[in-house]
Amino acid sequence: MLGPQGSGKGTQAERLCAFFGAPHIEIGEMIRAEIAAGTELGHDLQRYNDRGELVPDAIVLGAVKPLVAQARSWILDGFPRTMAQAETLDALLTGENADLDGVIGLEAPDDVLIARLAGRRYSEATGKLYHLTANPPPPDDPGPFVQRADDTPENIKRRLQIYHTETEPLMTYYAERGLLHRVNAAASVDDVYGAILTALLAID
Ligand code: AMP
Repeated sequence: MLGPQGSGKGTQAERLCAFFGAPHIEIGEMIRAEIAAGTELGHDLQRYNDRGELVPDAIVLGAVKPLVAQARSWILDGFPRTMAQAETLDALLTGENADLDGVIGLEAPDDVLIARLAGRRYSEATGKLYHLTANPPPPDDPGPFVQRADDTPENIKRRLQIYHTETEPLMTYYAERGLLHRVNAAASVDDVYGAILTALLAID
């Protein structure tokens, strides 16, 4: 799943994983869990996270490689985010005689994303992300619901800038290989999900 912050990667990936019965590999969540555990690595990661910057490729790749190698199918959410990560993923898959089935490219204008991120809330109990109006927490999630530390206006701006320079070029990279399915992420959660499912189910 490719897409900027606030495009709904996590929300959509969760639904898709339930539908396809595939594991959800979510790097941002792994990073937040490490920070919450208070490990030495978590301490280092917090510095990047709090500034809204990407974690160095070597750390991310070390965490992702075994997960990708472990299962035959998965939904990758928030990875790859740099060309180096995409190239390493390709090398890893080639080594396993595997390939990506498809890449979903979620697209929405920055002003829509900024408005969405402002209403985003994180459950301290379950680690799940919700939106106050578009995707409110279900009754079985006790919360409390807090704003993510990296969802400050200043960080949001920086993260979107980094997205445009570091990650957006991957859309072209996958489009050139015929793998990219662009989806309008400014639509409702249900409509975005419908568009993604239609694209994925049409793949041979
Ligand atoms: P997310 O929940 O996907 O918005 O990720 C939260 C934070 O984790 C990002 O702002 C980065 O600091 C870090 N992160 C997540 N995925 C990656 C990645 N593929 N490469 C580098 N840093 C990442």
